[in-house]
Amino acid sequence: MSNIKGKVALITGASSGIGAATALKLAAAGVKVGLAARRVDRLEALKAEIVEQGGDALVIEMDVVDPASVEAGVAKLVGAYGSIDILFNNAGLMPLSDIDQLKTGEWHRMVDVNVKGLLNTTAAVLPQMIKQHAGHIFNTSSIAGRKVFKGLSVYCATKHAVTAFSDGLRMEVGQKHNIRVTCIQPGAVATELYDQITDPGYRQQMDDLAKQMTFLQGADVADTILFALEAPAHVNVAELFVLPINQG
Ligand code: NDP
Repeated sequence: MSNIKGKVALITGASSGIGAATALKLAAAGVKVGLAARRVDRLEALKAEIVEQGGDALVIEMDVVDPASVEAGVAKLVGAYGSIDILFNNAGLMPLSDIDQLKTGEWHRMVDVNVKGLLNTTAAVLPQMIKQHAGHIFNTSSIAGRKVFKGLSVYCATKHAVTAFSDGLRMEVGQKHNIRVTCIQPGAVATELYDQITDPGYRQQMDDLAKQMTFLQGADVADTILFALEAPAHVNVAELFVLPINQG
């Protein structure tokens, strides 16, 4: 039996990709999962799948950009299950374009969701974890939070921000509040993330990339999250840098 059975998790961006895969894995391990995103129909379908497999899940309509929506979602989860032991800050988006295209709407959206959204959920959950004097926060950065790629300048800036914030958060809440912080830095994962690329050249580039390497599946990333969660209480897996074997 796993040591995470009966714990409560909030997963943002649970309606697809890495978030949905992680929700399934955690629920199978006995974690009660709060499924947060904007597409409630997708969350309801995921909940049905989890319940069908004997798990426990709560659908939470949440826009991470809106602090009131985040606070209401956190209150709903605590009201239903009484605690929050795991926060998976996973919601994010990655429209690619060259800077001189000046797709400033997409730039601002990435900053809003990838950075401010993550700060909103962290701020909403932290008081509960501090009260519990326990918790584990996972922040989704990326290989793009370690190095910079052409066409991904703003995305890389947001993911570098996530990496930096995660490191600082770990230093501040680890010893003081007994909260573990893990920064996840995946390489290419086969999800809907690439569907948001509006630039035809970069869209083609991602399609070509998919032919050159075997992308990770969301479940591969979820397995690494389980590894960090199931580590003994005194062990903080600070970073998970997970790549397809043939990604350079
Ligand atoms: P998906 O597009 O499948 O998932 C993104 C999730 O984010 C969706 O569930 C979406 O839900 C949610 N989301 C977007 N905007 C908001 C919002 N305003 N409020 C709440 N939820 C929101 O992509 P992935 O699973 O790949 O992405 C998950 C994370 O992994 C992202 O942070 C991404 O940057 C990161 N990542 C992905 C990699 C990849 O190659 N796929 C590699 C490295 C990191 P909804 O639209 O229903 O709100």
